Amino acid sequence: MGNELSGRTALVTGAGAGIGRACALKLASLGAAVVAVDRDKEAAEKVAAETGGLAVVADLAESAFVTKFPAEVDIVVNNAGFQHVAPIEEFPPETFATMLKVMLEAPFLIAGHVLPGMYARGWGRFVNITSVHGLRGSPFKSAYTAAKHGLEGLSKVIALEGAPHGVTSACVSPGYVRTELVERQIADQARAHGIPESQVLTDVMLGPEAIKRLIEPEEVADLAAYLCGPSGSFITGVTLTVDGGWTAR
Ligand code: NAD
Repeated sequence: MGNELSGRTALVTGAGAGIGRACALKLASLGAAVVAVDRDKEAAEKVAAETGGLAVVADLAESAFVTKFPAEVDIVVNNAGFQHVAPIEEFPPETFATMLKVMLEAPFLIAGHVLPGMYARGWGRFVNITSVHGLRGSPFKSAYTAAKHGLEGLSKVIALEGAPHGVTSACVSPGYVRTELVERQIADQARAHGIPESQVLTDVMLGPEAIKRLIEPEEVADLAAYLCGPSGSFITGVTLTVDGGWTAR
């Protein structure tokens, strides 16, 4: 550790908050030049200023968003995402489509945009922030679970196609992380499960985890940085869980 990512450019989607912001700060601390992508202009610019990097304001649900991105990128952290909690029969189809666009189609489009440059330079890293929901289902999270399972699959294909060119791709799969995404779903989870909001953390979120605490965004970022550093060069096509033992069950 130190300046091990010096000379590398790292593009982080959803860099304005939570896990994305923590990844941007961590990669910058290791010497990477950060491209902070977010649909929230103020948040993207704040993180760009904090990291001495570049802000790109883009909504990953919009067509042609990828043309705003530089093509010369060495590291991609596919992180932008959001949640919607509802039973399938009440789940708005347009929300399902948007979630797949942002969390699955966008990483595919970004890969197509940056891979030729990575191949030419013989080096690249994809870190895909999936979720336990890339490996397990939960009721009322149809779109999120489908998108994250899809991203797990896409990551494997990038790993296989990229291997001869020095490109790796791996997923980091957290349990519940202390971010606004989690704060925002407490009321919806309570409604969907028919329980008081005060029970959502213990009964729903931390229920399946063996270690009963939320993960901090910085812990997820540390793992992302490990994958991008020299020790991560042989770790590809896999999923590293940071889920407090959830998937041990
Ligand atoms: P967050 O809501 O705290 O931050 C997400 C950021 O992404 C925000 O800055 C938001 O503006 C941006 N974003 C959302 N949609 C976007 C779009 N269409 N285009 C551009 N930017 C967009 O979320 P978080 O908790 O940090 O989650 C980050 C990622 O980690 C997500 O993919 C999420 O699914 C995953 N994840 C989160 C948790 C958790 O418990 N928080 C657990 C597992 C996986």
